Amino acid sequence: MAKVRKLWELQLLEEQQEKQKLQIVDPSLVKQLKSLKQEIEVLQSQLKDLKSQYQRAKEEVNSLERAGVECKEKQGQLNEKIYDGSLQSKEIKNYQQRLAKLNEEFTSSEDKQLEVMQQREDIKGIWEEKKQQLTTITAQYKTLHENYLQQKEEIKTRATDLAREITELIQEIGTEELELFRQLQKKHRRPVGRVTKDTCSGCHLGISFDKIKQLKTPDGVVHCNHCGRLLLWDPV
Ligand SMILES: [Zn+2]
Repeated sequence: MAKVRKLWELQLLEEQQEKQKLQIVDPSLVKQLKSLKQEIEVLQSQLKDLKSQYQRAKEEVNSLERAGVECKEKQGQLNEKIYDGSLQSKEIKNYQQRLAKLNEEFTSSEDKQLEVMQQREDIKGIWEEKKQQLTTITAQYKTLHENYLQQKEEIKTRATDLAREITELIQEIGTEELELFRQLQKKHRRPVGRVTKDTCSGCHLGISFDKIKQLKTPDGVVHCNHCGRLLLWDPV
């Protein structure tokens, strides 16, 4: 009887092991991780674009600044020429026209410079905002990923524990009984039937009076008269 109980325990453990093999990390967690990873990738690429946009704006500001300086120099030269008394009045007029054109160019270049500087600041603002988002999402991802690894580890530990429990139990079961159990397993996935209320838990049919009588004896290895499973006398 004690032997059949061990086989019953083995059956329960192997049942748990079958279920355990199907255990996976919470799918919604995996889905969340995938979506966060995508968000991170999008943000990283946006940040990269913004950085090059910022760089271009910065270079444009620098080049406009240089153009401004050159313009100022030319203005100075023209002014000098106009007032040094070396020019005829007709030439002065020509120089003054050139100077007016330069002034116009300078003003428009200054406006452009301000505009690009503003663009550069706007880009910087957006970059900082996106960078903050990336930090937040990366932290979320990290927490969930730790959770994921923990779940995976727990599943693995449970599998190892179950395998160890099964090995230990098998060592306690005699070779003969185990052989019988495995033999019956070819016909029935669960070869031990528990008898409660005089019914076999494997086929749900009533056990004959004779079999019940045999089951009540201490060493009885009894098979179900319907399905042939080994019976465990375990009345509730
Ligand atoms: Zn049965």
